[in-house]
Amino acid sequence: MSGWETVIGLEVHCELRTETKLFCGCRNSFGQDPNTNICPVCLGLPGALPVLNRAAVEYAIRIGTALHSTTQASMFHRKNYFYPDMPKDFQISQYDVPINAGGWLSLPGGRRIGIERAHLEEDTGKTTHVGGGGRIHEATRSLVDYNRAGVPLVEIVSAPDMRSSEEARAYVDELRSILVATGASDGKMEEGSLRVDANVSVRPQGAVAFGTRCEIKNMNSLRSLGRAIEYEAARQVQVIEAGATVTQETRHWDEGAGRTGSMRSKEEAYDYRYFPEPDLVPVEPSSAWIAEVKAGLPPMPASRRARIGEMAGLPADSEAVVTVVRLGLDDLVEAVAAAGAAGDPGAGSSGVVGGDDRARVVAVAVKRVANEVAADLEGASRLDRPAFARLVGMEASGKLTSAQARTVLRSMLDSGGDPGAIAAGLGFEAMDTGDLEGIVDAVLAAHPDEWARLRGGEEKLTGFFIGHIKQVSEGKADLKAASSILRQRR
Ligand code: ADP
Ligand code: MG
Ligand code: ZN
Repeated sequence: MSGWETVIGLEVHCELRTETKLFCGCRNSFGQDPNTNICPVCLGLPGALPVLNRAAVEYAIRIGTALHSTTQASMFHRKNYFYPDMPKDFQISQYDVPINAGGWLSLPGGRRIGIERAHLEEDTGKTTHVGGGGRIHEATRSLVDYNRAGVPLVEIVSAPDMRSSEEARAYVDELRSILVATGASDGKMEEGSLRVDANVSVRPQGAVAFGTRCEIKNMNSLRSLGRAIEYEAARQVQVIEAGATVTQETRHWDEGAGRTGSMRSKEEAYDYRYFPEPDLVPVEPSSAWIAEVKAGLPPMPASRRARIGEMAGLPADSEAVVTVVRLGLDDLVEAVAAAGAAGDPGAGSSGVVGGDDRARVVAVAVKRVANEVAADLEGASRLDRPAFARLVGMEASGKLTSAQARTVLRSMLDSGGDPGAIAAGLGFEAMDTGDLEGIVDAVLAAHPDEWARLRGGEEKLTGFFIGHIKQVSEGKADLKAASSILRQRR
């Protein structure tokens, strides 16, 4: 791949979390018995007429606002083609006048990816091919479920701004967090709530013109998205280096085989015979409504990262901060910051918490959330916020070593409880000051030469003594208290 650059543009289909479908009153819910959420409208029976769902328009406006798009008066078109999962033989979509035009999002590292449009359309039903390992060509029969037909989608089309599979994954990750933050999506890729098609081309490093692209379908996880892009870019380079040219086409990602395969030649817009949907009026949200939706949007991931980073004294794009926000676990960190502001956890033996000390406590919270809590999201939803704040306070003030705090936290994630009681039950309770002084003195007496050197100013020996104190106390010493005793003895 050396000497070549990969260019990627993504089309993300996001199912909206409305109660009902886009143009009828059928329920929009996943996992029901086949063909139970259907009616004459979403089945395209003669005489049935669509009525636009206001909630779907509102979600589309929220998404457009979050992506810095321009929300505009728009209209629906019919996109005509036959497929058994589409009962009307056309899809109602938006064509040249989408509800949201232009925009961008910025990745955690700061790189901005352009958005071309984010438009409304209806979803299709779902076919299942039976026999032949689920592949259409070898199947003996096909089943069709129309429950999904007519479910509202917003399709977000990026500019061809991504340059690696990592960047494409980061984009989808960020877009997913944004969509969840707007309330429009549950973000569940595994349930098909977010579906990604990738347009991939390659060009010689330094070239200005784009190469011919292929569009890859059927990737249902971030991992397959990354693998499919890698495979496809390498395949195109091979084609070009062999003296042939890349054919513009739609390709299918085969997860098992780990490769893309040709599916069909590229269809053009005119193939679909788009024409304005005669049964619907244009969508013209008032500027008052757009302003109202905009004002009601909660903070987006980028500003939440900035906030948590600032409270914890960590870079907003550090891995732990990014993880906390990606998983939507900000409220745990907020709970610790709020408790710290009230002078509660972390106050420990040192008294008041403020400034740098408070940031230190919040940083401990970020670390625990990004590691132990992130590894058990089910436990996270049950985790008592004040109890978590007390645990972080105990670790930050040295009452628990970090290994002990992790053990206590895992127990809290499994079965709840008070961190103080769990720590005591495990024999982790803080060591009595008298006992601690005894241990410090014993360690000093056992290493007179090192003690003399530390007193002579060789600071690095502090670590040596702390290590021994930790060992002799079997990990129970409050190391912060131990170092202050060390300072007193000098
Ligand atoms: P279509 O509607 O035919 O799929 P679009 O122009 O809407 O075509 O582009 C679809 C997607 O393809 C967009 O995400 C865009 O960024 C991306 N794209 C366009 N040209 C290229 C290219 N040369 N390489 C990679 N992606 C591209
Ligand atoms: Mg396309
Ligand atoms: Zn219906």
